[in-house]
Amino acid sequence: MKYSKQRELILNTLKEHMVHPTADYIYKVLKKELPSISLATVYRNLNQLAENGVIKKIEGLDGSLHFDHNLTNHYHFICIKCNKVYDVPYDVAPDLADKVFSQTGLIIENYDISFKGVCPECHKKECN
Ligand code: ZN
Ligand code: MN
Repeated sequence: MKYSKQRELILNTLKEHMVHPTADYIYKVLKKELPSISLATVYRNLNQLAENGVIKKIEGLDGSLHFDHNLTNHYHFICIKCNKVYDVPYDVAPDLADKVFSQTGLIIENYDISFKGVCPECHKKECN
């Protein structure tokens, strides 16, 4: 199987599965249909896709890396209990780059904002 085919499969797996999977998660899913694939290949391809701006990389709290195929403006929330990465709508703080520019003169090209806290699921568990 050609390298570019593998990359296509990896990208499709990212799109079809849960919102922000890790390379390890994608590897485990892909291995079922492509037993010869290695974790290193999955990592390399995901990193290349991220470097080329096809997908986004999100740094988890435990040093884990999550990947996101959704390139539209939005923020993230990482749960400190379960490490799940949630989407936070852009609406909660629109025009952030414009505001930073008008107050500081700093010209923002791109940003990666992740809020940290406890997700509703983990909060529920704590209260029970
Ligand atoms: Zn949680
Ligand atoms: Mn996202």
